[in-house]
Amino acid sequence: MTTSKDIRAYSLENLRAWFIEQKIPAFRANQVYEWLWNKHVLEFDSMTNLSVNLRNELKKAFYIQPTLGVYHFDQSEDMTIKYALKTHDGHIIEMVLIPSETSMTVCVSSQVGCSLDCTFCATAQLKRERNLNTAEIFDQIVLAKQQAQIHYKRPLTNIVYMGMGEPLLNLNSVKESIELISSLKGLGMSSSRITVSTSGLPKQIKKFADMNLKVNFALSLHTAQESLRNKIMPFSEKIPMAELLEALRYWYQKTGIKVTLEYIIWKEVNDNQTATKSLIQFAKKVPSKVNLIEYNPVESTPYKKAEYEDYKQVKTQLTQAGITCMIRHSRGKDINAGCGQLALKF
Ligand code: SAH
Repeated sequence: MTTSKDIRAYSLENLRAWFIEQKIPAFRANQVYEWLWNKHVLEFDSMTNLSVNLRNELKKAFYIQPTLGVYHFDQSEDMTIKYALKTHDGHIIEMVLIPSETSMTVCVSSQVGCSLDCTFCATAQLKRERNLNTAEIFDQIVLAKQQAQIHYKRPLTNIVYMGMGEPLLNLNSVKESIELISSLKGLGMSSSRITVSTSGLPKQIKKFADMNLKVNFALSLHTAQESLRNKIMPFSEKIPMAELLEALRYWYQKTGIKVTLEYIIWKEVNDNQTATKSLIQFAKKVPSKVNLIEYNPVESTPYKKAEYEDYKQVKTQLTQAGITCMIRHSRGKDINAGCGQLALKF
């Protein structure tokens, strides 16, 4: 007796092996795979180049897990759209579509909730329920492509793994989803359009570097002062800053891709000279550029964003020190769609 399995949990290789075992020519597996991942057809009956017999065989052996449904969406006055998406088993995750003059970016979730405890982040207040599987990550991008066409008649250009969850705690599905997005078997987008962001887990960073995926990579640094980082991101108490730095260097050695250091400036937390100096020192130790991120207010946290003047000043200091630096303005704040505001409030 074979129990029915989710066909989208199969790699092409495994699917081909299954077909060969059933004495069905292996090229049929390629056809099925193309329907699933390239054409995004999620019913066996719509796979019209397969015989009715084969479709019935497939229906007996496999099921196709229903894709994410749009549970709710909100559009910001700056045109950012936040989607609450429902998984087949009833969880809600969030995805954000961010149009700008030159790009159309989707911010995708990698987990339901988050297990880390960054004290300034709204998602950290949610319990981590489970990892998203490969299809659930991939389907967010397919949906974003469709929505970008519907709302803005424009193609999707960029993908950032900066929604709910810690991507590097779901390495396998994140890797598989990136492979599918960037391969012609799937969406055929360039991997240089993809950015994965981590809160900073050295062992996972090294594993990720070894996967050699040619994506952009960001670290949510926020402070280069070890004791302060332990306070605002308590999970990092177990992670010496030196180890984090070493992992980032390893990333660069393996991939040749500069690390983006994400850095929020808060009032009376890191809006001082000592903080900026240690940021500069840190950034000089690994090939990197710095994104200064505007803080989006999160209820029940004490954090307040620093003055814009402070941002500009830090930018000037970094630039003078030879470090490439950008100030990133917040998007979708009015609908709680900004970075770190994803907490199922809609
Ligand atoms: N767990 C990963 C992926 C989430 S990315 C990571 O931490 O990198 C979300 C980004 O938004 C991170 O850089 C995070 O530090 C930042 N962030 C969290 N709360 C924020 C807030 N309220 N305003 C602005 N950025 C925030």
